[in-house]
Amino acid sequence: MISIRKKLGASFITTSILTIIFIIIVVNVVINIQFKKYMNEVQEKRYNSVVTYFEEIYKKEKNFSIDSGNELIHEAFMNNYCLTLMDSNKNIIWGMNPDNLVEDFSFNNMHKEEKGVFTSKIFNIKYDNEIVGYIEIGQYSSILLTEEDTAFITSINKSIIISTLLTICIVILISIYLSKQFSKPISEVSKISAQLSQGNFNIKFNGNTKIREMDKLKASINTLSEKLNNQDLLRRQLVSDISHEIRTPLNVLQNNLEAMIDGVFPITVDRLMKLNSEVIRFGNLLENLDVLKDFESKNYMLSIRKVNLEEVILDIYKEFLLEAHNKNIALTCEIDKNNNYIINGDKDKLRQVFINIINNSIKFNRVNGEVNICLMKEGKRIIIIIKDSGIGISQKDLPYIFERLYRVDKSRNCVEGSGIGLTIVKSILKGHNADIFVESEVGKGSVFKIIF
Ligand code: ADP
Repeated sequence: MISIRKKLGASFITTSILTIIFIIIVVNVVINIQFKKYMNEVQEKRYNSVVTYFEEIYKKEKNFSIDSGNELIHEAFMNNYCLTLMDSNKNIIWGMNPDNLVEDFSFNNMHKEEKGVFTSKIFNIKYDNEIVGYIEIGQYSSILLTEEDTAFITSINKSIIISTLLTICIVILISIYLSKQFSKPISEVSKISAQLSQGNFNIKFNGNTKIREMDKLKASINTLSEKLNNQDLLRRQLVSDISHEIRTPLNVLQNNLEAMIDGVFPITVDRLMKLNSEVIRFGNLLENLDVLKDFESKNYMLSIRKVNLEEVILDIYKEFLLEAHNKNIALTCEIDKNNNYIINGDKDKLRQVFINIINNSIKFNRVNGEVNICLMKEGKRIIIIIKDSGIGISQKDLPYIFERLYRVDKSRNCVEGSGIGLTIVKSILKGHNADIFVESEVGKGSVFKIIF
């Protein structure tokens, strides 16, 4: 298969050479036509001057003799034309032999194709408006070219050929350069995509290109490799998270059961209850994975009805008041009562969204912290802001908090959680065509903004 560089180069070169050849043909034809026109005019002038010359002679001599005007013979001979002087009855007074021209040096220097059949023209010689004789001018070509004329036309043709060859060389060089410019980023992209397909996601397109589309292609391929790299990291993390989450309760169970079998630990109701709680934790984890699977499956259905978000938010706010109070957290709710907040949506799923976010705001908060829920409208858009003064999320973790089973390291060890709450939030909001944005600062708190 031919490479893009060769293909582009060949197309550039072919198009340019065809264009050059076309221009050269047009230029050549135009020059030849103009030159012939000019030579015709010169020839007409010569005919007129020969006729005038003989008319002047007649004016002086009132007759034509064998010597009349024969001083022109030499010039005619040198310029490859034949003269024959005739009286008023067309009797030849004197004439040149056309065969002598063929022997001549300057005739042989003429353009080959110009040496044609001998043709002649007869012109009247007039005196006092009466024909007093005839002069016949004959030549071997339609237009007579002097040596200088031939040299001129040859030099023009030569310079056309030289400039054509030069232009073709320049065109070839420019085509090679341009095809390299175009093909380089494309072949780079193809190399990078081959690397990506082999699972090497840590690769970047660094080359510089001044073409807008190429620049976009470069940006997209870099984003793609970055995303694939992140997905790969998340996948690895997911596997390690699941195995970590499963191993912990299993280890606890195994160690305790072994100790009981060996008689190290007495079998008490209290100990059995603790082991049971580990089994429950394990079961919860599997349940969470099941929930996640359902939410991520394509056939998860929303039952869409009219939902009043004001009611939903107020209900949830009231439900969380006790828990917030128990944790010494000030939970507040602001609703701009001048608007209505009715949307088409799945009430239960939307409740799940707000519960998950508010639950996190309380869970990842500090003692005497604050959580504020705000419901408002901006134009046609309904906005819900949940702001807390909790531990915050680092910029490094922020892009991943909506990913499956992602838990910020700090929260993993000290706070209960599964890492799927926000994944579910994102999935439900996507089903409602709503957006969610997060801003957060470690140690200061987080702001979750949902826009319907
Ligand atoms: P989890 O069950 O761990 O809460 P989520 O998907 O709800 O799972 O949240 C993912 C992670 O995002 C949490 O483990 C936590 O580290 C972080 N996070 C979510 N909400 C907040 C918040 N309001 N403040 C600080 N960290 C948060």
